[in-house]
Amino acid sequence: MTTLRFQGVLLPDDEPRELWLLGDRVTFQRPSGDWSTASAGGYLVPGLVDVHTHPGCSPDGGFDAQDFAGHCLDHLRAGVTTLRFPGLSASAEISHAHHLPRMVGGGRWLAWSGLSSHAEFHVVVDDLATEAAADAARTGWCKVFCDWDFEADPVPLEILRQVVEAVHAVGGRVAAHAQSGAGAYNAAAAGVDSIEHGMGMPSTAVPLMVAHDCAYVPTLSAFASQVEHRKARNRRRDQTWLAGYQTMIERVRDAHDAGVTVLAGTDRQPFGAVADEVECLIQADLPPTAAIGAASWTARTWLGLPGFMEGDAADFVIYPEDPRTNPAVLRHPSHVVLRGKMIRQPG
Ligand SMILES: [Zn+2]
Repeated sequence: MTTLRFQGVLLPDDEPRELWLLGDRVTFQRPSGDWSTASAGGYLVPGLVDVHTHPGCSPDGGFDAQDFAGHCLDHLRAGVTTLRFPGLSASAEISHAHHLPRMVGGGRWLAWSGLSSHAEFHVVVDDLATEAAADAARTGWCKVFCDWDFEADPVPLEILRQVVEAVHAVGGRVAAHAQSGAGAYNAAAAGVDSIEHGMGMPSTAVPLMVAHDCAYVPTLSAFASQVEHRKARNRRRDQTWLAGYQTMIERVRDAHDAGVTVLAGTDRQPFGAVADEVECLIQADLPPTAAIGAASWTARTWLGLPGFMEGDAADFVIYPEDPRTNPAVLRHPSHVVLRGKMIRQPG
């Protein structure tokens, strides 16, 4: 089989290079045998990452393995070669089949029994720390709710501290759902590893996130999809929600400027819409390069995944134009390569 060559500008280094596929790896060394050019002149970006998605899950928390594979392929066609699942059904069977994106983490949707309300998909537990540590030991991650009703009291700080201590003790990381100012503050103060959503997050949470090396995954596009409906209905709760949404938009830039790692997570259907999230991050005033990095190289570094070095895994995406000047092109990759296999190509 002929070796494939790719030539173009590599991001984020902004360097014109040529690389070849060597099995499931990339090499910058010209092979001695035959090769043919698969692509020339585009922009090469390390495989995209959606750090907050729930493929295969139904609203009641059920799981369908066939839907899971279909949703994962929707992501892959959009250039997303790695997925992280902050919360999946307890019955989820994650397929690590080679034709699907790489998978990171899982864990159940763990909700403390002391919260004032719960959703159907929540796994309600009394001992949040023990259950969280069990999930983290199994998958590397756990997902805990720091609040649910955004107008009610969050999980107390002391309980979240116990969660963080127990999960870190087994070498795991904590993804914390927060959608109230008090919940986001407690998550940041407890030292969780990522805050998901962070609606209404107070500015005082930002230095705590920096101190604990906590990433911010605002999932803005999932919230943006509700704005018109909330504005039209305009009940008191909608007004609180809209104010919290405005605050989280401001916090994205604050967090980035303070040195917090801001990452792209979609948390919604249809799957494969990470470009929407990048666009929302740019609208929230994140510099375009940082917003694209949030869905690619920054997320990859955060998860310990390789980029474009000699011998790195061949997961990358090619765009016909520079996504930094035209982010809309992220919706139209010309090529998607996963594990050295061409998933998508022109024609
Ligand atoms: Zn979610």
